[in-house]
Amino acid sequence: MNDCIFCKIASKEIPVDLVYEDERIIAFLDMKPINPGHTLIVPREHVDHFFDMSLPVYQHVFDMAKKIAPKLKDAMGSARIGVLIEGLDVPHAHVHLIPINGGREIDHERARMATPEELKEITEKIKKSL
Ligand SMILES: [Zn+2]
Repeated sequence: MNDCIFCKIASKEIPVDLVYEDERIIAFLDMKPINPGHTLIVPREHVDHFFDMSLPVYQHVFDMAKKIAPKLKDAMGSARIGVLIEGLDVPHAHVHLIPINGGREIDHERARMATPEELKEITEKIKKSL
């Protein structure tokens, strides 16, 4: 979709420091994290509803969530990595991986804009460990 921000990030029309990328997905930090290190895993292909993704892409998204989550947990020193899928923010399927120390922390009301420096520093930290 022409006006989709995640498609623009995937095509590099909007430059974002990626934590990870391959032919099917990209992963990068949410610029308005619920907690520092809040990461998004996004398929390159535009699909609105998460469960409408093709099975290979769907499985790959979760394979990569499994790879990225423990590295993210180590990098951020959180108790757990929370997983959130709702698609109410951007209508392009994605998974939120959120470093948390308690279940009530998964709340968009808590989200605050991160500074570019903060995003860059955390991205490098996670990228290095992958
Ligand atoms: Zn899109």
